[in-house]
Amino acid sequence: MDQENQLVIAATCGKEFINAYNGKRTKAIHILDKIFIAILNKYDPPHESFSFDSNDFMDDEKDNESGGAYRVAMGKIHKTLDSHEAFLNQVSVDLKLSFIPKIQCVNEGQGKGPKAFKVIAVTANAMGITSVDQVPNGYIRYTIEEEAEPTSLGKLIDGLTTTGYRLHLIVSFMLLSIIIGTIVVVGGYFILSKVTSVLDFLKGGLGLIAITYGLYSLINPIYQCITKRIIICPSILSPMSAPSAQLQYTTTHTKRQSGRKNRQFKVIVYTATCPICQSRIDIYNGTNQLSGRLVGLCDENPREHVFSFDYTTRLGKPVF
Ligand SMILES: [Zn+2]
Repeated sequence: MDQENQLVIAATCGKEFINAYNGKRTKAIHILDKIFIAILNKYDPPHESFSFDSNDFMDDEKDNESGGAYRVAMGKIHKTLDSHEAFLNQVSVDLKLSFIPKIQCVNEGQGKGPKAFKVIAVTANAMGITSVDQVPNGYIRYTIEEEAEPTSLGKLIDGLTTTGYRLHLIVSFMLLSIIIGTIVVVGGYFILSKVTSVLDFLKGGLGLIAITYGLYSLINPIYQCITKRIIICPSILSPMSAPSAQLQYTTTHTKRQSGRKNRQFKVIVYTATCPICQSRIDIYNGTNQLSGRLVGLCDENPREHVFSFDYTTRLGKPVF
């Protein structure tokens, strides 16, 4: 197939992704829409890639202000599209399109001028995706709406664990528990023995509780995620505006010497459409008889429209 056609197929896939996307309509999504429309409409004469720079898709004067929402969104437009790669692949499977769009920045790190980009077509990857007409009767399908770049804290944790320190981390967790316990006991003894006024006692006690809680709230989700593979993402690690994001301890393509695959933390947004009322479904912790499980709750009727959630098959079915 011609490379020109590949780019048109990729842009068609991109446009269909924008149409199907029901997350927050950010500036970046708006810009991506305009890019795909530009490729599909002005595609003359055909090229194997579509070039643009960071000034090309401004709507008005407001977008021209430096530091404005447009500049911020445009500066990382290639990374934004990368974060939706799984969604693009799903669209490609559903519509039998073989290519998805990818944006490359061609002058990264070269001075202050406008950033230059090009859109190319890359082969779609159907792995792990059930096409819309193959979803079993009575089931719903979850879409990976977004996979975030980890925040700097997330990157630090990733650096510690990608090389397979599961045991190491569990040992660290236990050690940290001992350290926290020691802080509480020693600190508590110090406060009781040295402090004379009630106010100082309360201040010291509050400080101790804050430190202990801070350490615990940082370490506990990481430990939970390593042992349970997927949890609701703590807000400190979540850079996104979605109603609910998940932190997943997922396999990577690289293997350790033992032959087992390396794992990595990823912040992922899974979502689906409610088959009863067509509202958006997001993943939350289950309560009452669903305690300990992650479930899909409908935005419109979160008490009755409740679905199971299996991140491996990306399928779910009504729980009630
Ligand atoms: Zn519903």
